[in-house]
Amino acid sequence: MLFRSDLRSVANVLEWDQLTYLPKGGEEARGRQLGLVSRILHERRSSPALSKLVDDAQAMADDDSVDGAIVRRARRMVERAQRVPAELQSEMTAHASRMYGVWVEAKRDNDFERIRPLLEKNVELSRRYSDHFDFAHPADAFIDENDPGMSAESISSLFASLRKELVPIVHTLLAADPPDASFLERDFPHDAQLKFADYIARAVGYDFERGRQDLTAHPFMIRFSGGDIRITTRVGSDPTGAIFGTIHESGHALYEQGIDAALDGTPLGSGTSTGVHESQSRLWENIVGRSSSFWARHYPALVEHFPKALGDVSLTDFHRTINRVHRSLKRVESDEVSYNLHVMIRFDLELEVLEGKLAIADLPEAWNARMKSDLGIEVPSDADGCLQDVHWYCMPFGGSFQGYTLGNLMSAQFYETAHKGPGVSDALESGDTAPLRQWLTENVYTHGGRYMPDELVQRVTGRPLSADSFLSYLRNKYGALYGVDL
Ligand code: ZN
Repeated sequence: MLFRSDLRSVANVLEWDQLTYLPKGGEEARGRQLGLVSRILHERRSSPALSKLVDDAQAMADDDSVDGAIVRRARRMVERAQRVPAELQSEMTAHASRMYGVWVEAKRDNDFERIRPLLEKNVELSRRYSDHFDFAHPADAFIDENDPGMSAESISSLFASLRKELVPIVHTLLAADPPDASFLERDFPHDAQLKFADYIARAVGYDFERGRQDLTAHPFMIRFSGGDIRITTRVGSDPTGAIFGTIHESGHALYEQGIDAALDGTPLGSGTSTGVHESQSRLWENIVGRSSSFWARHYPALVEHFPKALGDVSLTDFHRTINRVHRSLKRVESDEVSYNLHVMIRFDLELEVLEGKLAIADLPEAWNARMKSDLGIEVPSDADGCLQDVHWYCMPFGGSFQGYTLGNLMSAQFYETAHKGPGVSDALESGDTAPLRQWLTENVYTHGGRYMPDELVQRVTGRPLSADSFLSYLRNKYGALYGVDL
């Protein structure tokens, strides 16, 4: 096969090591090594020889077979690489790595002004990048990369329909009495957190024969090949970071481990989009991993790992606490209900900036105003405001947040359909997730990148993506948990 993804995997191994075990002294050389591999990758992707090979195979592109899908994906990849001049690509890579270092300090010192000129430059580079494409909106060049086939316009209208219903639900739940979470401040030894993280990854079906789990600061999943798909987790004083971080990354990994082995190394040999990937991490983390039947099965093991901290905490109290809806300054610490408002704030601001309607100098103020109007939260500092997420400071500006909410919507729509699969709902009632995983493998995972996200959702669920399943999931679950009518 003409497309091997080995060079991409070489970069992934270097990156995995950088984020887990690399000593400080190796950082500079590692940046150089990664830069070299990504340059070679770009050269190969935009080479006339590859373009010719894809042209020669073009006759197969309309074919409904796997080969047809390979040709279409390959063409997308080659055309995207050819549109962007190599100098601009490497200027953006270099700028991103310079910006990242300054962002770390600016966030630490709560100093937006320090990063502002670099962020302005990033917006300018991102606009120049998108000028090389013929999309309707400057954000579309990035949206199309992460969530192929979608656009600023289609996502805005989907988000508007979600937002209209979600805001009143969030406000009702925020007004209710929150469950007690004080037991999470007890002592949860780090080694026991790590042991439980391995236990829970195995419990959802992560295959340790084809992967491993290590520690990092910001957990991620990464693919080296079909036989080596790695996950990472983090430990802290609150054990829910490790528990749900691990289930989240295991969800990403189940997707990758479930892809048909015959697609390994082809352009179809990984998940089809950011949104579909997030649908799996969030389906396992939230819909399964925060359900009462799942914990009825696994709570005894959790108590065994932390007898002192949880010995007197009932399953019911634990379940209520891991589903509490609260005002969170930070996206990554927010609950599954209000989370989507955090995402929409970022998505809307990205569009306004790229359209030239909002200057970077005014970004902190615009951020804080939205946090106030959407979530009723006063933002005390930019470090906890527009500096909190790394995305704008380490990659092109735009198209980097919508996947999280698209994923939430898809997760509920996939789950609703999966629930009707043979034996799935009965097994889930006793906390057995194997039939669900089997169903998802056969219907979603095995295809890898064969179908575009919209096409996959339509095929699997029989209808286009909408906010309906997600909203009814929230209404049922949180209406019962909080005893309110949503
Ligand atoms: Zn994720």
